[in-house]
Amino acid sequence: MNILIFLGPPGSGKGTQAKKLAEELKLPHIALGDILREEVRAESEIGQRAKELMNAGKLVPDELTIELTRLRITKADCGSGFILDGFPRSWKQAEALEQMLKENKWEVSRVIYFRIPEEEVVERLADRRSCKDCGAVYHLKFNPPRLEGKCDLCGGELYQRADDNEKTIRHRFEVYEQQTRPLIEHYVKANKLVELDASKPIDAVYKDLLKVTATAVVP
Ligand code: ADP
Ligand code: AMP
Repeated sequence: MNILIFLGPPGSGKGTQAKKLAEELKLPHIALGDILREEVRAESEIGQRAKELMNAGKLVPDELTIELTRLRITKADCGSGFILDGFPRSWKQAEALEQMLKENKWEVSRVIYFRIPEEEVVERLADRRSCKDCGAVYHLKFNPPRLEGKCDLCGGELYQRADDNEKTIRHRFEVYEQQTRPLIEHYVKANKLVELDASKPIDAVYKDLLKVTATAVVP
């Protein structure tokens, strides 16, 4: 089983890198933010509970994300592993994940920590654009689409997420510092953590990512 966890502040490039690596390793990319946005779009009960919290840059309740993760990682396509992006984000989630993995006799292969300062995150997220249809992610300056406002991959319309405004971005960074950052120490102690300089350009980060995962994943 190849189980990779991508940990780092919002805007550190977890989704961008996870999509590339998932394709290369043929593993599902499980992004809790994407799953939650789907629930919001579908106006499901979960979506209705999550919407306001997400727009305000707060974490949605642990029991929701834990249940969504449990449902997702036990699907057939996760049989040889998966990349978790944006989960766990709190102690309770980390404990629940450990329990879920134990029940299946699985183990985390590596936790990849995307290190980046707050100011860079603000710049990245303020100009992020996401595809309405396939969820692909662009940046107006660092990774622009070929045609303005249109997704390169599916032609879908690009939009700016409601939580990608400076005030909410700064709040999300604070939430990350308080609730998620403490997990780093936990994974260091478990001898699972490797650190990436996430400030480098996309291709350079990807090169580093391939290096640090090469010894952790089984073909
Ligand atoms: P996260 O999933 O960690 O929230 P994203 O992958 O969505 O972050 O990236 C946030 C924004 O920064 C996007 O607009 C993306 O295109 C851009 N981006 C991602 N990685 C880099 C990088 N290494 N250098 C510059 N911009 C990047
Ligand atoms: P992201 O797409 O990763 O930036 O996540 C967007 C928003 O979804 C976050 O600001 C939270 O409101 C919510 N979210 C995503 N993952 C989690 C999680 N593991 N726990 C709680 N809330 C989450």
